[in-house]
Amino acid sequence: MQEFINNLPKLAKDKHKENKTFFTKLKKKPPKQLDYIMQELHEEEFERTDCLECANCCKTTGPLFTNKDVERIAKYFKMKPQQFIDTYLRIDEDNDYVLQSVPCTFLGADNYCSIYDVRPKACAEFPHTDRKKFQQISNLTMKNVAICPAAYNIVEAMKKRINL
Ligand code: SF4
Ligand code: SF4
Repeated sequence: MQEFINNLPKLAKDKHKENKTFFTKLKKKPPKQLDYIMQELHEEEFERTDCLECANCCKTTGPLFTNKDVERIAKYFKMKPQQFIDTYLRIDEDNDYVLQSVPCTFLGADNYCSIYDVRPKACAEFPHTDRKKFQQISNLTMKNVAICPAAYNIVEAMKKRINL
């Protein structure tokens, strides 16, 4: 797994042109069953891939924190939201709250998330490969294939399964 993760940026770069062409076509003419296909590909992939052997998203990028995330997690720590923000977050160039540093402070050495039950929505949904109208997040997905082995495999499987 680690070797695959290390090679992902290069693999994703090599596939970028092919992926861009594929997603451009997908956006123009998404198959009627796309939501169903994505659900199936996502489930198949996560039966094989164990996030606890990876945690590359937590190690390299980290999520955006919505106001709801901040309130929920601050409450979990019995902190005031502003105190939580001052301790762990910063505002990025898009004006979103993000982690002050990566790997994420809440990631354990065993790859477990210490705030799993209250983790940000973006963490719970990552890599978003089972979301509806998947064609709408193609730019994000093309970035995610460089950090997430599951997203990489799912996009490769999509290209085999969907003839455009
Ligand atoms: S979501 Fe992707 S990058 Fe994150 S731990 Fe799972 S396989 Fe790894
Ligand atoms: S909050 Fe948890 S799931 Fe989200 S990046 Fe940090 S360790 Fe990973």
